[in-house]
Amino acid sequence: MKKLFFFENLKFLIVLLLIVNFSKIEKIQAQKKSLTQPNIQNVIDEAFTKFKDLQGGKNADYIKELANVDPNIFGIAIVTTDGTVYTKGDITSMVSIQSVSKVFTMAKVLDEQGPQVIQDKIGVDATGMRFNSIVAIEMQKGKEINPLVNPGAIAAVSLVKGADSIAKWKSIVQIQSDFAGRPLSMNIPVYKSEAGDNLRNQAIAHLLQAYGRMYFDPVESTDIYTKQCALNVTAKDLAIMASTLANGGVNPITKKKVVSQATVMYTLPVMSIAGLYDDSGIWFYNSGLPAKSGVGGALIAVCPGKFGIAVVSPPLDQVGNSLKGQKVIRYVVEQLKANPYWIEPKN
Ligand code: GLN
Repeated sequence: MKKLFFFENLKFLIVLLLIVNFSKIEKIQAQKKSLTQPNIQNVIDEAFTKFKDLQGGKNADYIKELANVDPNIFGIAIVTTDGTVYTKGDITSMVSIQSVSKVFTMAKVLDEQGPQVIQDKIGVDATGMRFNSIVAIEMQKGKEINPLVNPGAIAAVSLVKGADSIAKWKSIVQIQSDFAGRPLSMNIPVYKSEAGDNLRNQAIAHLLQAYGRMYFDPVESTDIYTKQCALNVTAKDLAIMASTLANGGVNPITKKKVVSQATVMYTLPVMSIAGLYDDSGIWFYNSGLPAKSGVGGALIAVCPGKFGIAVVSPPLDQVGNSLKGQKVIRYVVEQLKANPYWIEPKN
């Protein structure tokens, strides 16, 4: 009799445990639901419809050729770390990558020379000023900047290994192309337009040199930097580049190991503090995602371990970030609960 009672109780206990476990599984599935295939596609379709007619913003025109780019180009792409590609809108039009390229050249230097070199020879502090601020250099005598503002980016180019400017340029095109998973080429009119009117960046490079913080010829470094900014990309290329970072340095499409996990680990925090110029704080506060914008209208963001997202839309806000790009990514992050700081309590 006692034995029977024991077994009845045991059965009851097992059923109870099963119920508790099922509800836990359901809870986990509910959390994950946000990143299912139909959901991701739906969310970018919605974002496209919601923001396609958004007015405002203006193409950059301090680089003359950028003013001629069609302001209606509007493309969204997400590439998940398992290599699935989701797109909406215009993903075939090319724009110049501009400042987004700074991320991948920084990653190259990190990969070749380690994190201390970036920290000591450039800096990893937000300047809180415009991307081409000369005051920011002057205030700290060329220190405490970062590789995502112009002075730090030109310094990063100067640090890339290579005996001469041809070798350095080759190495930079290679790393940018490896991130994208296809050979990237230069938009010649954009390059010529910027190179012909580049006195400010030349001044920046010379000022850094005066402070002993330029590591190759300043004129040649600025020229390589200008070429790098003129590389042509689509929204899909950019999303693959972002996804390679999200995937710990392995391109999720080509499966090539582009940079080490450690390189990614040191790259993403710099994007978090300085990816959107002097609005980097506002961006990070609202999205929680490391990101980078460029004056060509590109914006990328990285959801670590999950996906890379990119938007191309040339009209920029006052600070110089793609207006639609910011709206779209923030909407997608919110809908997919992709902010890494959205934390599901364990009980
Ligand atoms: N080539 C541009 C420049 O140096 C890049 C700036 C940017 O995208 N913020 O001014």
